[in-house]
Amino acid sequence: AKETGKARCVVYSARHSTPAEHDISLEAAMFQAVREGEFMLYYQPIVDARTREIEGFETLMRWKHPTLGMVPPVRFIPIAETNGLINLLGAWALKAACVQLKQFEEAAQRPLYISVNISPRQFRNDRFLDVLDDALAFSGVSGAQLVLEITEGTLMIDPAHAETILAKMAERRARIAIDDFGTGYSSLAYLKRFPISVLKIDRAFIRDLPASQKDGAICNAVLDLAKHLSLSVVAEGVETEAQLAYLNERGCQYVQGYLTGKPMAANVAVAALTERHYE
Ligand code: C2E
Ligand code: CA
Ligand code: CA
Ligand code: CA
Repeated sequence: AKETGKARCVVYSARHSTPAEHDISLEAAMFQAVREGEFMLYYQPIVDARTREIEGFETLMRWKHPTLGMVPPVRFIPIAETNGLINLLGAWALKAACVQLKQFEEAAQRPLYISVNISPRQFRNDRFLDVLDDALAFSGVSGAQLVLEITEGTLMIDPAHAETILAKMAERRARIAIDDFGTGYSSLAYLKRFPISVLKIDRAFIRDLPASQKDGAICNAVLDLAKHLSLSVVAEGVETEAQLAYLNERGCQYVQGYLTGKPMAANVAVAALTERHYE
């Protein structure tokens, strides 16, 4: 335990180290964290833009370090992606999220869905489909209740391989969402080539609404595109009533953001769903 304390101390006081050295200590702490069970999942509501009723949840990983506190995913996901730990963490998250969905549905007394982020390395992993099937079989969740969030980049690394994997997902009726839509490769050809169901408009295009005419134009274009391609749209990072009103006026069906629900622990989500049920 003393050695552990030391390792954590190194991470904590890495003020004078270079970013690379800092990552190494954080990386060491990550392996420890897996053994200690410090990773957990938060869930953020994805709601109907008009009724604000919860339709589903996005699963967001959290690392609760005993001395560092909450380490944000932007710090540890890239490291996990580099050293391959993302395959282990991602498989765990997928399975745990599916199991959690069952409890959410029980609390809500209606069908919901669960959305899970899939990193590029996870998507390309040979065992990914086995991991997916295992999560579904173990939890009893149907593929149709699962949304897998991938980025444009993930599709473009190896489009032929992506096509094969996406076809297998479609067989399982799992839906694919393009995360951070509009921030990656600008080619729209993939929307034609791949079986995509959902576009998630990145927060970068929502943040300055309704004031920014440029962002408004981009959101309108995405909503229009989605409509003609029969895709659902989720606007990410909605923080204000004015943003929600703007998106509603333009027919955006789903939103996700601090306004309608921050990422929360599973028990808090269950309480929210139960309250609503008895309202
Ligand atoms: P993302 O997939 O784009 O997730 C949305 C991020 O926006 C989350 O940050 C969420 O907490 C944050 N967010 C939601 N609503 C608002 C809002 O109204 N305002 C603001 N300012 N932020 C909002 P988080 O949880 O820190 O995650 C960051 C990124 O880390 C995620 O971006 C995703 O790329 C990655 N990530 C998180 N969990 C996982 C995971 O389980 N697997 C993988 N592969 N990546 C994950
Ligand atoms: Ca996401
Ligand atoms: Ca996103
Ligand atoms: Ca993002």
